[in-house]
Amino acid sequence: MTEVAEAPVAAKRGELRRISHWIGGKLVEGTSGRSGPVYDPAKGEQTGEVDFATPEEIDRAVQAAKQAFPAWRALSLSRRTELFFRIRELVHDRAEEIAKFLTSEHGKVLSDAKGEVARGLEVIEFCCGIPELLKGDFSEQASTGVDVYSIRQPLGVCAGITPFNFPAMVPMWMWAPALACGNTFVLKPSEKDPSASLYVAELLKEAGVPDGVFNVVHGDKVAVDAILEHPDIAAVSFVGSTPIAKYVYETATKNHKRCQALGGAKNHMIVLPDADVDMAADAAVSAAYGSAGERCMAISQVVAVGDVADPLIGAIKERIPKVKVGDGMQPDSEMGPLVTREHRDKVAGYIENAPGEGATVVVDGRESAPQGDGFWLGVSLIDNVTPEMRAYQDEIFGPVLGITRVDTYDEALKLVNENPYGNGTAIFTRDGGVARQFQFDVQIGMVGINVPIPVPVAYYSFGGWKNSLFGDQHIYGPEGIQFYTRGKVVTSRWPDPATSKVDLGFPQTR
Ligand code: NAD
Repeated sequence: MTEVAEAPVAAKRGELRRISHWIGGKLVEGTSGRSGPVYDPAKGEQTGEVDFATPEEIDRAVQAAKQAFPAWRALSLSRRTELFFRIRELVHDRAEEIAKFLTSEHGKVLSDAKGEVARGLEVIEFCCGIPELLKGDFSEQASTGVDVYSIRQPLGVCAGITPFNFPAMVPMWMWAPALACGNTFVLKPSEKDPSASLYVAELLKEAGVPDGVFNVVHGDKVAVDAILEHPDIAAVSFVGSTPIAKYVYETATKNHKRCQALGGAKNHMIVLPDADVDMAADAAVSAAYGSAGERCMAISQVVAVGDVADPLIGAIKERIPKVKVGDGMQPDSEMGPLVTREHRDKVAGYIENAPGEGATVVVDGRESAPQGDGFWLGVSLIDNVTPEMRAYQDEIFGPVLGITRVDTYDEALKLVNENPYGNGTAIFTRDGGVARQFQFDVQIGMVGINVPIPVPVAYYSFGGWKNSLFGDQHIYGPEGIQFYTRGKVVTSRWPDPATSKVDLGFPQTR
């Protein structure tokens, strides 16, 4: 088995690693006396204990960020770019170490964890172009002798609150554009897998990012509420489940903060009768069971249109026994355990309840789960799922794929558009006209055409519609730059006695 790198910022206490805060460029042990367990999901063992911050500890991190802000925002764009190239190199060179933290605390297989780091790295690379991204507009001679130009300036101290399922990538989607734009940052990662963030904090310091520019605090609702209410935090980015996203958005905006809060998802994949069945089955299996279904862009519901249902289910069923479920550190594992025992049991409950609701369990992941104390569940396939069922309505967030059968494309589209979530969707077809119409009609933020997980590349922005996003701006890409800056327009005239006079009228431009 591959050895897990020790988090250099975590001290060993007995057998458990103690995971503390990172404030002002150094490790700061928590004083609240409150903490939470961190597990190795493949072994089912507790491996660490993470400190939960008090409001005073959150304030300490915010003050460190506030103090660091004036110098950081004043740093020239060329110096900031140089630093970002160094960060890019370090994250690239230590990608495997970061990935090992993800596998050991989240459970996802190492190859998937490396993929996560790579998609975060793309956003860091995008941010290396910050001088170009922050360019404003300039209008010469808007009025006689008057020029007008726009600039974008950082907001100040920004905060990020992130979910368990992408412990490295989602924080990178936040702190990279925030820092590149000249803000300082306080990150509150998921308490379930907090170590990667501390390791990245060390990398930023090694790259030369000044102390206080990037801080990490751990915790639960107490820490989140302290962030949402802190008067010195200008903006909050959140990614997590829909109820918490809504709460975070409402509380942050009530406290006059800018907020983007990305929520949960129920991503449908429509398969039309003319689709390439093998391609659609490969895509469904990859997108439903990759990362044990714990992805906000996972396909959790296939909508099979017309007579494609039987051959498609046959092709998916054929592929399922080949999915290798095992310890993520083993190179041949394709799917790891779920993040906690509690979550594993909740997901298994949907399989248990499906027949009672009238659905058909075609493959039961409880039967194929590896033995041992890990939080294991094999992959499941449930047919004849209908919109009234819990298995349809809830975001299961596990390796369970539902199939809904409909007769027409219009019925399939209606299902997607009526769903309260609007994160991702995909259509599988050979008909370009139908695919184009789908892209036109569908009420979803990210659409794949024969692409099951359409996570946009770093130079576009990521975000859903409806209950999958509260706020106006999507994350990373051009909208990320907008989110972490505010506009200023300057109207300027240099002394010219020939054009100077008293005029009480409203300024005219002609
Ligand atoms: P979660 O909502 O439980 O937790 C997210 C963050 O909120 C964590 O940092 C957690 O500590 C904090 N939190 C939890 N309960 C809280 C409360 N009562 N008050 C204040 N803060 C609280 O989400 P999770 O289980 O960590 O992550 C999975 C969810 O995230 C899924 O719903 C998934 O779809 C969603 N997600 C969405 C996206 C997206 O881009 N839309 C991306 C990744 C994950």
